[in-house]
Amino acid sequence: MIKVENLVVKYGQATALDGISLHVEAGEMVALVGANGAGKSTLADTLSGILKPFSGTVQSTKMAHVPEGRQLFGTLSVDDNLKLGAWKGQDRDTDRIYEMLPELQRVRKQQGRTLSGGQQQMVAVGRALMSQPEVLVIDELSLGLAPRIVSILVENLAELNRDHGLGVLLVEQNAHIAFSLCHRAYVLELGRITHEGKSEDLAVSPHIARAYLGELSELGSED
Ligand code: ATP
Repeated sequence: MIKVENLVVKYGQATALDGISLHVEAGEMVALVGANGAGKSTLADTLSGILKPFSGTVQSTKMAHVPEGRQLFGTLSVDDNLKLGAWKGQDRDTDRIYEMLPELQRVRKQQGRTLSGGQQQMVAVGRALMSQPEVLVIDELSLGLAPRIVSILVENLAELNRDHGLGVLLVEQNAHIAFSLCHRAYVLELGRITHEGKSEDLAVSPHIARAYLGELSELGSED
């Protein structure tokens, strides 16, 4: 589905990604966890072709990108925003999306700017699904959303994975969410992957628990 090998991405002289390798198999849900500035959006933007690699390779099949900050057209209706997700010449029928994300049905005629943050994120996912992808790359699903809303979105994604075999690369700052949805994860620190493995194993690693799950160090340091 997605295969990245030795990827280096630079902004001018500055190296944002420094030799990243990762893969997402068919129907798999995988997380990429990292703090602010780790390079998460750079990776998502490179996967979707917005940024070009300095070196290394990116291969993917039928991928769609849910960008950070949703990026809807505020004055267009939900239905029209969804239609923008289809490729030229592709079916623009949105009914399939309302079947997959039934909560959007009720707001289908509403303008994008009138929606709640959670609804906007759901439209952004729906818009990406319009291109009939096999794998979604989702940049910061949880950004600015209340935990209850994030849970609903996570449940939607789990259903799409279960019922439609959709693969997901969840690029996420919130490790709790990432590990709860995805069975496997990578940890990105300053442009490098420092840890990878099953989410359940990563979650009990002391470094990751301290740095990403907000758990206090055993020594109870006061810094
Ligand atoms: P956040 O969670 O804050 O969005 P991120 O993990 O997505 O962070 P990136 O936005 O990918 O991180 O940024 C990675 C690094 O590249 C940072 O050091 C950032 O300052 C730098 N960077 C990002 N965009 C540019 C740009 N357009 N020009 C120069 N440097 C950039």
